[in-house]
Formats: sequence, C-alpha cells, structure tokens
Amino acid sequence: MKVKLKPTVDHLTPYEPGRPMEAVKAEYGLTEVIKLASNENPYGASKDVEQFLQNPSPSQIYPDGHAASLRKTVAEHLDVQEDQLLFGAGSDEVILFLCRAILGPGTNTVMATPSFSQYKHNASIEGCEIIEVPLTSSGDHDLERMLAAINEETRIVWVCNPNNPSGNYINQDMFSSFMKKVPDHVLVVSDEAYVEYVEAQDYPDTIPMLETYDNLLILRTFSKMYGLAGLRIGYGVGHRDLISKVEPLRPPFNTTTIAQQAAMIALADTEFVQQCYEKNRAEKQRLRSYFEEQGYNVYPSETNFLLVNVQKNGSEVFQELMKQGVIVRSGVPLGFPECIRLTVGSKEENDTLIRAFNHLYS
Ligand code: PMP
Repeated sequence: MKVKLKPTVDHLTPYEPGRPMEAVKAEYGLTEVIKLASNENPYGASKDVEQFLQNPSPSQIYPDGHAASLRKTVAEHLDVQEDQLLFGAGSDEVILFLCRAILGPGTNTVMATPSFSQYKHNASIEGCEIIEVPLTSSGDHDLERMLAAINEETRIVWVCNPNNPSGNYINQDMFSSFMKKVPDHVLVVSDEAYVEYVEAQDYPDTIPMLETYDNLLILRTFSKMYGLAGLRIGYGVGHRDLISKVEPLRPPFNTTTIAQQAAMIALADTEFVQQCYEKNRAEKQRLRSYFEEQGYNVYPSETNFLLVNVQKNGSEVFQELMKQGVIVRSGVPLGFPECIRLTVGSKEENDTLIRAFNHLYS
C-alpha cells in the first residue's frame, strides 16, 4: 500500500479485547462458555434498564449530543455543576479527547506501568513522549517516582485508581499529598472506572478535591458496575474551564440516546448497585481464598477482578482454561507474564472457573 500514514500511527497495534464467546465456542466445539475476561458485570444491568431496553427510543432521531438530561442527573448524583461534565462513548473516548486536546510533540505524559493501555495508546498517537514508571513489586503506583518524573514539558499524569490490571488502590492520604506536590500546569487524571466496587474505607473522595485543584480530572464509567459496557457511556468530571476547552473536540453525537437514557435509569437503581457490590465482595473473597489455598499469590483488589500469579506463563494457563470454556485474560499482554487476570463472576461462573482450574492442575 502506498498511502502514507502519520508516523505515530504507522506502528500501532489494535487493542486486544477479551476473546468473544462465540469465537471460542466455534474454535473448541464447546456449547457452554463463560467470559471472565473484560471485567463486565456478571449480573447484567438493573431490571429497570432491561425493561427500558425492550422498548427504547426511536433510532431515526439524532441524540442530544450535550446529554442534557443525563448531565443534570449525574451532576446531582455527584454534587457538581453541570458544566463540569464531559460525556464520552465510554471513558475510553474521554481519554482520547484529553490526549487530543492536551498532548502533542514536545510534551510528555507520565503513567504507571502496567496500567490501563489506553493512556499510552492515545498519547502515542498524539506524538507525545511517554514516561512509564513501574509499579512497585506489590502492584502499587510509585507516586514518588511519578512525581520525580514530572518536568516542564509534562502535561498529563495518569493515576488508575484502582489500577487495572493489578487491582491495587491509592488511599486518601497518598492521593492528597500527591496532588499537593504535582505542579499546577500538569493535569492529574484519576481513572476511577471501578470506584463502585471499592471496599477500602480510606479510598480517596476525589470529587470534593475538584474545588481545590483545577488540574484534577476524574474519569467514571457506566460500563462496569452499572452493566452498560455494550452501550458505551462514560464521563470525565473536572474544572469547568478545562471541560469547556475539551468539549469542542467531542463529535456532535458521540453518545447515543439509548445509552444516555439507560445511564439515567441505571443511576437511579441504587439497590441493584448495592446487591452487585455485596455479591462481588463475597465472590471475590471466595476466589481469593481458593487461589491462596492453592499456594498462589493474588494481588490485593478493590475491583471486580483479580490478578493471580499462576507461577507459569499466563498465556498457557489462559489457553488451557479456554479449552474448557473459561475465558480469562492472560497476564502476558498486560505486563504480568506469570499471571492471569480474571473477572469475579457470579457464583455459578466462579464454580465453573474453580472446576476448570482444579482440572488443569490435577
Ligand atoms: N479505565 C479503566 C481502568 C478500565 O479498566 C476501562 C475498561 N476496561 C476503561 C477505563 C474504559 O472503560 P469504558 O470505555 O468502557 O468506559
């Protein structure tokens, strides 16, 4: 092909999603497959959302790109102003907007590694230098080293809290003292995709910190706890001046009417969220105990997934589990070659996972 691409795009590799269930069924001749690879909600979405989806809004009408109703609902939910919100087709898209608006050649961005892949991916496309600071051996962000890496050219520091794929979290004291030390020309993005699953009492309450720091932006999503991953909706919350500068980059109709309405309905069903939280907590503990009893190290997790050190190549274990109809994530592409990452499923799914794992090592 003679078409010339931007140099920053030429060497990119596509995002590797968890394997689709249908593809795995076909490849291994399986009738039953469970997917514990992408940290989705195993209990689906609120019944009210499911009911709404039986009879959704008409498709021929463009959505309200401004998402006025959802904006009002989320602003009330978080106790922020409506002009502090930026909606995206998943928080993935908000990451893209931020990189596009802020990063470019001659600038750099600081992030932990391994962490969520999309920070690096989008920053690279903008031709920005990537400064990766390894997690500590326990899987924590090394905030001191991240601070030390910041210089005049730094534009964004990414903090994935809790971190994907390790599951570790940064506590209130550590985050507060980090914010105090970050120079005010540097945007701190606190990616809180799994916030609704957090059990730790000292997890930072970042929303009120927006009043002190105009260089803080928080990412949240409806894809995880709210069970709307397939509808693609997430958002950023930040200072209104920053939001108003980034907002023009947003395509006019980036989030759909269905997603906006489903998100509003999902937010209202606090009982569903509470139930999922309790079930996740109990099942996560059960899986953790199982793996630890087998002698495997499990990273501390404040999320709906566990990173397990299986003491051999994660891709091999991933393949072997897949043959038995259990799709997890190999730690190899995630930067933890001796690990697998698995979503905490329902009780039945976790029983199946445990059976498959026992079979593997028997
Ligand atoms: N941040 C983190 C840490 C994630 O794990 C994910 C999903 N894998 C996202 C952001 C993006 O989620 P979404 O685009 O579905 O909102």
